[in-house]
Amino acid sequence: MSNIVAIVGRPNVGKSTLFNRLVQRRDAITDSVAGVTRDRHYGRVDWVGREFSIIDTGGYVDGSDDIFEGEIRRQVRLAIDEANLILFVVDVETGMTDFDKEIADILRRYKKPMILVANKVDNPQRFAEAADFYRLGMGEPYGISSINGSGTGELLDKVVELLPPDQDLGEEEELPKLAIVGRPNVGKSSLVNAMFEEDRNIVTEISGTTRDTVNTRFTKFGMDFLLLDTAGVRKKTKVHEDLEFYSVMRSVRTIENADVCMLVLDATLGIESQDLAIFNLIQKNRKGVVILVNKWDLINKDTNTMRDFEALVRKRCAPFVDIPIFFTSALTRQRVLKAVEEAMEVYKRRITKISTSKLNDTIVPILKDNPPPMTKGKEIKIKFATMLPTHAPTFAFYANLPQYIKEPYKRFVENQMRKLYDLSGVPIQIFFRKK
Ligand code: GDP
Ligand code: GDP
Repeated sequence: MSNIVAIVGRPNVGKSTLFNRLVQRRDAITDSVAGVTRDRHYGRVDWVGREFSIIDTGGYVDGSDDIFEGEIRRQVRLAIDEANLILFVVDVETGMTDFDKEIADILRRYKKPMILVANKVDNPQRFAEAADFYRLGMGEPYGISSINGSGTGELLDKVVELLPPDQDLGEEEELPKLAIVGRPNVGKSSLVNAMFEEDRNIVTEISGTTRDTVNTRFTKFGMDFLLLDTAGVRKKTKVHEDLEFYSVMRSVRTIENADVCMLVLDATLGIESQDLAIFNLIQKNRKGVVILVNKWDLINKDTNTMRDFEALVRKRCAPFVDIPIFFTSALTRQRVLKAVEEAMEVYKRRITKISTSKLNDTIVPILKDNPPPMTKGKEIKIKFATMLPTHAPTFAFYANLPQYIKEPYKRFVENQMRKLYDLSGVPIQIFFRKK
């Protein structure tokens, strides 16, 4: 289980600039994933071999109305709840403000590891101004410049030093890990109950190590897996959670730890931006996915209702449309078990290796017959392919001029692969390399 670092602070102190600097190199890689929307507020950082997630809380506020400061206060509290470490950013250019003090007051009440970051220390003169923030009572400020990068290396060293060790799940680590995710009120906890209700005795709760995470082992109908964070699913939150930020913050840890996510939608509401924010998190982490359109019992159906709904969901998820979709009811338990069984199938597909010889006998000939368009008068030839030994399915295609291969062709390759192999619900990654 890896850690989460949250960046908090009032608007314009440079949170998003800092975020971009910290995730920079990593994003260059993730951006090449076919069709993954770039998420500007959530990313992964790898520093001296330690990997963690980073969330820019400010990125989720549009900052136009008067609930603004209240919103930030709530975000700070939620960040404290969910993150393992807080980067509290202040700005030496404007100096200390009342709002900085107020945020510091909230932060100081908790024992979370946190680092006070004095941003916009673009030159040595400004170090003295940074020291002024010592008065916030949050320890020594780290003077950095997010714009030119100075001090950010030392900051990352400090982050890595303060982060708690990554934890695993003990003896259950080897089991398939499934998660039920979705925004509030779509029926996640009702679905968990529907899964377990028949026989309470088979429920074994395994306490997690961070916050009040409870993972539940499911052993029924020939299945054996861990359902992650059932406590988090059941927990009712006090704050109103209409914002994408809450959905992301609440589900990020669970998604990162899962192999397959069951993304729950509310049939009476359709699919909205909050749902897509979670979908993007799943995609970005390249986890398996099954979509559950829940509360289907509430829908007046005619012959086309299901087909139309399914088309709508796929349209919103495009270009990753090869996803199993189930129309469920936690109330009547209709198709709940089917959806879970399918999630286990996605799990199996995701860990299935496709041999180099199979790739070269099946997909490669198709690509030889349908090469990428000629570029600068040169023919581009795909020579062979292999599956890389990574966690999530990743394929390398070797070509004479890989640098000329563009996104649409990559899409074409992915579509062909999805026709040839059983990859429903499994995000894949494709690279072109020089041969
Ligand atoms: P956020 O609202 O906290 O996310 O702040 P932004 O990252 O959007 O930055 C607000 C402004 O401060 C922008 O104009 C940035 O270019 C500027 N800024 C951010 N970091 C630095 C820095 O290290 N030095 C200077 N001089 N300006 C910065
Ligand atoms: P969560 O916040 O995602 O865990 O959602 P809950 O499981 O707490 O459900 C929110 C509300 O929707 C509750 O009032 C449930 O009784 C109701 N609900 C959940 N699933 C269904 C369903 O399949 N059909 C109907 N009719 N109501 C449901």
